[in-house]
Amino acid sequence: MTLVEEGIPDYLAIAVAVTQKSEWKEALDSVMAVVRSVFMFDNLALYVAEDDSADLTEIVYARAVGRGQSAGAEASWGVEVANQVMARNEMIVIEPSVPAGKKGAATVRDSARKATQVEDVEPVAAGEGNGRKNRLSSPYLLGMPLRTADKVIGAVVFVRFGGPAYTPAQIQRVQYIATQFSSLLERKTLREQIIALQEARLVIALQEDFIATISHELRTPLGFIKGYSTTLLRQDTEWDETTRREFLTIIDEEADHLSTLIENVLESARLQSNTMPMNFQAVRLDAVIRDIALRSQARYKDMQIGLNFVVTPVIRADSVRLAQVLTNLFSNAAKYAPGSAISISLIREGPVYRVRFSDKGPGIPAEYLPHLFQRFYRVPGQTSTGSGLGLFICKKIIEVHGGTLSVESQPEVGTTFIIDFPVESNNPSKGA
Ligand code: ADP
Repeated sequence: MTLVEEGIPDYLAIAVAVTQKSEWKEALDSVMAVVRSVFMFDNLALYVAEDDSADLTEIVYARAVGRGQSAGAEASWGVEVANQVMARNEMIVIEPSVPAGKKGAATVRDSARKATQVEDVEPVAAGEGNGRKNRLSSPYLLGMPLRTADKVIGAVVFVRFGGPAYTPAQIQRVQYIATQFSSLLERKTLREQIIALQEARLVIALQEDFIATISHELRTPLGFIKGYSTTLLRQDTEWDETTRREFLTIIDEEADHLSTLIENVLESARLQSNTMPMNFQAVRLDAVIRDIALRSQARYKDMQIGLNFVVTPVIRADSVRLAQVLTNLFSNAAKYAPGSAISISLIREGPVYRVRFSDKGPGIPAEYLPHLFQRFYRVPGQTSTGSGLGLFICKKIIEVHGGTLSVESQPEVGTTFIIDFPVESNNPSKGA
């Protein structure tokens, strides 16, 4: 039962509807339920000014409830009136010069509520015949500006096909309804502004984080390079050959580190904007994995690496980029799962070729997993250096190949990165 049916005055019922729902659209639906029960109309549309311009209107809400439903469904019927209402900032009533149902007009004006009932049953009696057509060709329009304290933000337009004309009491009621619509639309605008502000704040926070991380990351190798080269250049000290080589090696490694970091930042930006050049060729997936495993073995001497290839598929890929992904997984494993054995398997799993890259390291708590592939994301509490760009870059590269990169991890058990390549867009498997 609606509030009005319970005997609550419609003004109060509308005000209650406006305040009870926080979501503007839901509130509008509740208001409409009350409006429909106390004010007769066939169609209604709410228009708002686009981009603060007074004469461009956008429909934000439309309802077709009565006669001519299909005719008014798309709600462009009221645009002209809405534009005029907004331009003049005043109410407009448009009635046909020869009113339909002329005979009954006087009674209709006297009792709007009664007329509602009379008019509502009439289309059923008249069927789809001429009566309906006549009514559709004589719309009674009522347009009311929607205002906030300092400007016109839109217009609400009602239409009654074939009348009756709007009585002064009904117009007053619509004036009230319009104030409620205005506050709902203002609420909508405020909500949108809040969301936009929150998003902007998030972007700024992310950028600030990034700048802080990057400047820290740049400063560390630069500090080493500067420190060791200044030391080597000191005139008052003679360095033996071993020490000299040791210092130069540090400078060399830190310079590499620096250039990788800068390259990562540039790459992530290119991947983000889809401007990364790719060189796709037929590539044996197992061969790329084996090659990177061998190189990683040479780099991380103590690392135990196990390979298990059930299939040996040829896929369309950029082998340099694929190698980059695997190298990154190996370097993460060395950093975050030190001392752990690594196992890599390659199988066919239904529609995909699947690479599983597993370590038996400390794992990653479940709450952090959803963020792992985000740009600049690092699991809190890391002691090792990093920029949080590696996995973001890996994921993007795999996605450019039409594949997916995901992660499974369990604290104290280990972490597995899963790369899937669709079989369909690649050659059939050559292996068992
Ligand atoms: P970075 O290594 O520069 O921090 P990544 O994007 O490569 O950035 O990794 C993001 C985060 O994921 C890392 O900070 C680390 O916390 C976590 N991580 C990555 N690989 C592993 C792994 N094998 N085991 C545990 N944690 C990992």
